[in-house]
Amino acid sequence: MKKLTETDIKKLISESKARELYYARTIVEMFPQSNGIHVRYKIEHTDFAGHIERSNEYDLLPKDRLCIQVPCPNRDCTQGYFSLTSEADKCLRYGKEVSGKMRCHGKEDFKYYDHNGFTCDTTIDYIITPL
Ligand SMILES: [Zn+2]
Repeated sequence: MKKLTETDIKKLISESKARELYYARTIVEMFPQSNGIHVRYKIEHTDFAGHIERSNEYDLLPKDRLCIQVPCPNRDCTQGYFSLTSEADKCLRYGKEVSGKMRCHGKEDFKYYDHNGFTCDTTIDYIITPL
């Protein structure tokens, strides 16, 4: 089987990202009793060029689609984004705050020999609370 190239992988990922958004239903369709959620997160990435920290917060209201995709700031990352959609789903389902930390599943090794190792080190800390 032919080994996937970086371009193949980026294409597959951007398709799955688009699919997640396309099929996402609105909060009110899935959880008619909900007033929405508040999403707060902080992303950290360190490389030779320095330390990047980005934070953001916003509300997702009942008419909004339930899909949370946060871009990974590492330019060499193959994954390119974090999905907090299933965490938001938990928050809505149980009506409780959901928080945690995730590490990016992307790789950043395509420019090195043999494409092994070097998992992207970007992390995201998130808190999702019901409104
Ligand atoms: Zn990444």
